[in-house]
Amino acid sequence: MRDPEIISTFVEQNFIKGRQFIHTIGKELTPCYLFEPAVVKSRAKAFKRAFQYHLPDTSFYYAVKSNNFPDVSQAAIESGFGLDVSSGAELEMALEIGAKDIVFSGPGKTESELDIAVIHSGKVKVLMDSFTELKRLEKRAAKADRKVRAGVRINSDPKGLWRKFGILLHDLNDFIQMSKNCPHISFQGIQFHSSWNMGPEKQVAFIKELGQTIASLSASDKKMIRFIDIGGGYWPEQGEWLHVSSANKNNLNPELHINCAVSIEDFAMEISRALFENIHNQIGCRICFEPGRWICNNSMHIILKVIDKKYHNMVITDGGTNAVGWERFETDYFPVLNLSRPEIKERECLILGSLCTPHDVWGYRYWGKDIQEGDILMIPTQGAYTYSLRQNFIKDVPQVIVFP
Ligand SMILES: *Cc1c(COP(=O)(O)O)cnc(C)c1O
Repeated sequence: MRDPEIISTFVEQNFIKGRQFIHTIGKELTPCYLFEPAVVKSRAKAFKRAFQYHLPDTSFYYAVKSNNFPDVSQAAIESGFGLDVSSGAELEMALEIGAKDIVFSGPGKTESELDIAVIHSGKVKVLMDSFTELKRLEKRAAKADRKVRAGVRINSDPKGLWRKFGILLHDLNDFIQMSKNCPHISFQGIQFHSSWNMGPEKQVAFIKELGQTIASLSASDKKMIRFIDIGGGYWPEQGEWLHVSSANKNNLNPELHINCAVSIEDFAMEISRALFENIHNQIGCRICFEPGRWICNNSMHIILKVIDKKYHNMVITDGGTNAVGWERFETDYFPVLNLSRPEIKERECLILGSLCTPHDVWGYRYWGKDIQEGDILMIPTQGAYTYSLRQNFIKDVPQVIVFP
């Protein structure tokens, strides 16, 4: 079902923002990403506020992989966040911009990646992914004669491809016993992460399971758990906007489906209640969060120029979807706004990029009075899992313009 009001309100707000952008920065910089640090800061503060309202002891880490433009991480740090990194490259970037509280998570960390974490052990906590990684980390830390703060990732969805992450819940006790035999590791906590949450159901269900496992630990082992990191995966409230008939590649006017997400305040209320009922009734530890998409999604937009109008219902833009790194708009819907001829009305027209491949689609329609060569187009809220996936494919990666 299409909810025209959600979309038209969104379009209206972004027309205002886009017009301001052209007014301040001009029309000569396309294609580009337009980045708004103020949006990251206000999202980060809203996220913190929602959970701090309920929970006594919290820490927040921005998941760098969702948008690895360093200014996004910088804006998160300025809002009181730490950083959640999942590679040596992300860790080095985090250290370079001055992050002082970093969690390093992810499968298959190499020795050289672990070494960076060991050298900077005052700033980095390692969230270990397996029993063998525990042994590897102990070895690297012993070699450097350092003690490393660490936790373990627990798998919260041991089916299909998500099996690759972490250890199984029923192995937690064994993991803790093994970590006690590692003199260079200070075991301090547990992490889990579930993705694509439109509501808190998955997180709440896993918190219950985790509570049962914690209940089976000895009193002294329970005391070792100083933090529980419940990951990210919060979907922004506008939800997911999909073309339902995208399977049919020849359908050039697909229907839309809107899958709304609950507000962050509702996530916070339900998750906090589950934490009080299942975790805080046993241990008084810190709760950590690793939101990515929720923080950065609305902070970056793509700005393009129409370079060629080939038919009345087909235009080509100066940038290509190498700027987002995948064929996003064949499945996802985002409004294409004609900033040069604004109107709250959507018209049919194929909006295609300039890459030499047919899979270079921005959209099947645009919002505006008309569309002509030289017009400036905006695709709003492309901050999450686009910039990080950008590729130097056929065309260069566009520049980032920081606004204001
Ligand atoms: C990707 C990831 C996140 C961020 O997920 P979002 O859906 O962007 O909030 C957080 N934690 C871990 C461990 C991740 O892999």
